[in-house]
Amino acid sequence: MSLQKTGIPYLERVWNVTRGCSHCGPACENCYAERYAKRFCGRLKDYEGTFQPPPPFQGFADVNGWTGRVELLEDKLDEPLRTRKPARIGVCFTSDLFHESLPDEAIDRVFAVMALCPQQTFVLLTKRWKRMHEWFTSERPLREVREDIAYFAEHIGKIVWDQRGSERHNYFGCARIGDISNRRVFPGWPLPNVWLGVTAWDQPSFDEAAGYLLRTPAALRWWSYEPALGPVDCTRIPISGRGVESEPLIQVNALRRASVFAPHIDWIVAGCESGPGRRPAQNDWFRSLRDQCVEAGVPFYLKQSNADTFCLYNPAYVIEKPFLDGRQWLQIPEVRR
Ligand code: SF4
Repeated sequence: MSLQKTGIPYLERVWNVTRGCSHCGPACENCYAERYAKRFCGRLKDYEGTFQPPPPFQGFADVNGWTGRVELLEDKLDEPLRTRKPARIGVCFTSDLFHESLPDEAIDRVFAVMALCPQQTFVLLTKRWKRMHEWFTSERPLREVREDIAYFAEHIGKIVWDQRGSERHNYFGCARIGDISNRRVFPGWPLPNVWLGVTAWDQPSFDEAAGYLLRTPAALRWWSYEPALGPVDCTRIPISGRGVESEPLIQVNALRRASVFAPHIDWIVAGCESGPGRRPAQNDWFRSLRDQCVEAGVPFYLKQSNADTFCLYNPAYVIEKPFLDGRQWLQIPEVRR
């Protein structure tokens, strides 16, 4: 199977290679993945064991049915290897790759697949920034990821090769078969095609998350301010000030940014909460953040904001890709590697 398309406007595909989660802060209160899991948690259904239906009559806002079990979906591991067309791919957007229940080995394998797909851009997002930092800064991942690459070269690579069944297709959208068989593929560390992001929803969470993010090696670091639950002043944090070169795509030299000696936040995505039980954000929070981004030259993407008035056609009170002071803010870094 190839990767799913997605409605998340700044992504083209999603790779939900893990299943299950648990709450880890106020931003999880109205988890949309949980509402989806609730529909498929019955016996022999996808979410059996990872989601327990909550008692009835609690309303959407009180749904909290994750069991805390998180599993790696082995049958989805090779999906990026089967997707030839370059895309921006969200990784584990209905779970959390750095969840405490997921063993290090599972994370290693996900990174090994990403290493084998240099034509793809993988957009990672986590609320477990401490575990993310620990995983990246311990000694083992680099060694383990290299070993997993060799494993995939021998197994998954050959499977893809056999299914295509023709020499004409010996380049299947990721690394060349010959290269991975000879174990010559290793794009460098941190992987240049992985954008590492954290979700922070207010000032205290931003201060903590950004601290970990900036100390974690990454080709590109980004921050998701969604759901926005309080104003954030990020002027104390070194968000990038290297200039906006084109719009809406902004050129970024990923290798230059990969330096651990000059860590910056390179991209900010903002949005209010949507769905039942939503907690409204103030548009002034977005306006202030937009101004900080413009000042620092950081790409800013405003995914959604509050509608000021109720309208029958928009009962959710949310406007997708809204105008803010006369224009949309849909900036995305374009990384040249
Ligand atoms: S981390 Fe994400 S998927 Fe997990 S409970 Fe929180 S909002 Fe839901």
